[in-house]
Amino acid sequence: TPFIEVSGLEKRYDTRNGPINAIEKVSFSVSKGEFISIVGPSGCGKSTLMKMIGKLLQPTSGSIRFHGLPAGADSPDLGMVFQDAVLLPWRTVFQNVCLPIEVMGLERAKYERRARELIELVGLKGFENKYPSELSGGMQQRTSIARALVSDPSLLLMDEPFGALDALTRETMTQELQRIWMESKKTVLFITHSIPESVLLSDRVVVMSARPSKVQEIIDIDLPRP
Ligand code: ADP
Ligand code: ADP
Repeated sequence: TPFIEVSGLEKRYDTRNGPINAIEKVSFSVSKGEFISIVGPSGCGKSTLMKMIGKLLQPTSGSIRFHGLPAGADSPDLGMVFQDAVLLPWRTVFQNVCLPIEVMGLERAKYERRARELIELVGLKGFENKYPSELSGGMQQRTSIARALVSDPSLLLMDEPFGALDALTRETMTQELQRIWMESKKTVLFITHSIPESVLLSDRVVVMSARPSKVQEIIDIDLPRP
């Protein structure tokens, strides 16, 4: 059974100017450990789709099912990264990365060790005690990536996580993400505007068409991994 099964998913936003059909009849499935990219023109509903998978938004119709999970658990542990880092300004880098440990009540010693490893992994060693206002945009984004990974989530949802980064940082982060994925075999859903990035990183690319948005095609990428 697939890890995630999206079927006949639709989302309509009711706005002052009438309804907007952001997503129409989107269906696809994701196996455990797969890296899936979602590409498509701006405004085609990629963020809407991801927010529904992350339970931040309720679908208008259709369903998202998570299989292969213990009975009673209706959704997997999630890590989410958005285009703009949303950090708590009164907390340091280390305290921001450790936020899920507190929220989820995880074992402190073990996960704080992981937090330090991740901070190093995203290239922020030495910045643990800095506040977000003292960091560049790229560094803030890398902090939010470390935070998304700290609880060792089984599903990682990333909405253009590198969109706001400069080209060089983006390249480094893409390689880091690939390394993290190879190491941990997490299931990843990754929204990007970059076709090369999606081809490099993913097992499959879900291509969405312009609004009202459907899945246009699903491309299997069969490239050897480094
Ligand atoms: P993408 O991530 O592919 O750029 P979005 O999911 O952000 O697309 O948006 C899909 C469509 O739904 C767009 O036309 C957008 O303007 C509209 N939309 C997104 N969020 C809302 C909202 N909260 N209220 C009304 N319309 C929205
Ligand atoms: P993206 O960069 O993914 O395309 P947008 O810039 O379209 O995102 O949207 C940013 C935020 O604004 C999202 O949370 C989205 O849900 C919301 N949004 C987008 N379009 C609209 C809209 N027409 N009305 C209200 N909210 C919207």
